[in-house]
Amino acid sequence: MKVILLGAPGAGKGTIAKLLSDYDGSVQISTGDILRKSVKEGADLGKKAKAYMDSGDLVPDSLIMDIMENRIQEPDCERGFLLDGFPRTVPQAEALKKLLEKLGITLDYAINLEVPREVILDRLTTRRTCSNSECQAIYNIKSDPPTDDGKCKKCDSPVIQRDDETEEAILNRLEIYNEKTFPLIGFYEKEGLLKNILSLNSKETVEEIKKNLQTGM
Ligand code: ADP
Ligand code: ZN
Repeated sequence: MKVILLGAPGAGKGTIAKLLSDYDGSVQISTGDILRKSVKEGADLGKKAKAYMDSGDLVPDSLIMDIMENRIQEPDCERGFLLDGFPRTVPQAEALKKLLEKLGITLDYAINLEVPREVILDRLTTRRTCSNSECQAIYNIKSDPPTDDGKCKKCDSPVIQRDDETEEAILNRLEIYNEKTFPLIGFYEKEGLLKNILSLNSKETVEEIKKNLQTGM
């Protein structure tokens, strides 16, 4: 499938992308994961992006488009892709549209994961992430904790709270989402690609997406 996952920070885009990827082999492309990996590796891109990321601000569109233009042409995308955290602004969505037209790629849907604000806030403050940049598994201290000594169940690296998951950065991210990313819902509605799903449980959401894909939403 070729799908964009839209939704506020903490809406579950990453979790749902992983489950969908297990289902049909479509590759998950998370711009956040790509950026965090480059920060860890001390790559040029990471150096440019780090300050924006730590305060919860968006990285400039031009940097993101450079990443995506290359990433989407890699061979593993031929089977399908799940865009998680991209596009994040109307200019990115417009640039993506042009890029896909140029490459002759058609999207199936832009799926908007709707989650109430209280649920989002609770999830974000209880979220923890594996510090291994190759893994980045996501945990929740209440519902899906790491091991008793705070290690990742998959790779045994320490599980940490991300720099952008302090309360201040979280509130900033939500505000930026409302201002810059929320308008994408209207953008994809006009494009005829939008599918809204009320998403409180990732597994149920994934079942609904699979069912819809089979029947053509
Ligand atoms: P979230 O948990 O908010 O979905 P991500 O892991 O997707 O976070 O992204 C983390 C940070 O990386 C963002 O706060 C932002 O600074 C940067 N980032 C990721 N994707 C984009 C994008 N498409 N455009 C601009 N900045 C981005
Ligand atoms: Zn791990």
